[in-house]
Amino acid sequence: MHRRRFLARSIGGAAALGGAAAQNQERPRSDLPSKFTPSAYSVPSTKYSPFTVPDYYTYADNLTIERRRPGKPHTGKVLAAVQAHSDDIPLFAAGTVAKLIDEGYTGYLIRISNDEAAGRTLGYGVAQNETDNEDAARALGCKKAFSFYYRNHRMDDSAIIEIRARLIFLFRLLQVNTVVCMDPYNHYDENPDHIVAGKAVEGACWMAGGGKEYPEHFKAGLKPAHVRDKYYYARSPQGHNLVNRIVDITPYIDTKVRVNMANKGKGPAGTAGSRLRQELLRQGKKLPLLGDNDDTANFQYVKFFLMEDSRLFGRQFGCEYVEAFRYIAPEPNYLDNIRRYAAAHAVPA
Ligand SMILES: [Zn+2]
Repeated sequence: MHRRRFLARSIGGAAALGGAAAQNQERPRSDLPSKFTPSAYSVPSTKYSPFTVPDYYTYADNLTIERRRPGKPHTGKVLAAVQAHSDDIPLFAAGTVAKLIDEGYTGYLIRISNDEAAGRTLGYGVAQNETDNEDAARALGCKKAFSFYYRNHRMDDSAIIEIRARLIFLFRLLQVNTVVCMDPYNHYDENPDHIVAGKAVEGACWMAGGGKEYPEHFKAGLKPAHVRDKYYYARSPQGHNLVNRIVDITPYIDTKVRVNMANKGKGPAGTAGSRLRQELLRQGKKLPLLGDNDDTANFQYVKFFLMEDSRLFGRQFGCEYVEAFRYIAPEPNYLDNIRRYAAAHAVPA
């Protein structure tokens, strides 16, 4: 079914059920007195997905929209997409990771937990999510996936310096230039793993470039890694984050859908579409949107329900589908700038 027809129908259906979803797509009423200026903006949501956009964002005055770059401008550069759990990158940043890889980056997916809390039993959860992580990496176009296997939802029971040290090793081994990871200052996040993972990555990015940290690495042949830029994403629904970069992921939305379908053990995607299709068939019904086979049902379910918030959010920026980041740009070369100033202004002594 054409998306617009589906949306018209779903919004109409929601209105018939009391209009909850339709109302959620409007800017909510505010009782904020006029003497105050809002400092956070509520993010519209279809309420079709438990995870896609946070409740609020604040925006930087130099926000930029990053669009698809022609050619392969990132050829020779290395990207590390780091996640606490197998569904973090797929849900919040898969479009951007796929875009950067398509633009020339060599990508690696690094998962820090063992995801034991998401599966039929803890043991099955570990095995299923290990496979899912590999499949998601393949769907993203990554060269390789790594897993650290720290216990799920217990990462604050692990020594963050050990996680950080392992990341420093990998960043140096892979010579990482760019990271995509959870914002280490993700406000109101209930999940302890996210905060630990974000903080470990942040420290590792800085320390991997030093020549004094873990000097035995250099004896083993590694070189410092200079992580130049970072894309920090926020987790919903609790997130409340500064956004200065909107990435237009429209050309990569189907890839993002496939990456999420790879997450069978965790997250809201996986085989949810085929399960809904089977449930309806048992009642003698079908939803035309879900098509006539399980693969189509899984794809359509993710694209039309779980990705709808990305589309609704993107509309505010004139794009079809977007992801939002606190982007940290490469630092200027201070010494070069000072020398350039000196060269331009020096007079005979
Ligand atoms: Zn997570």
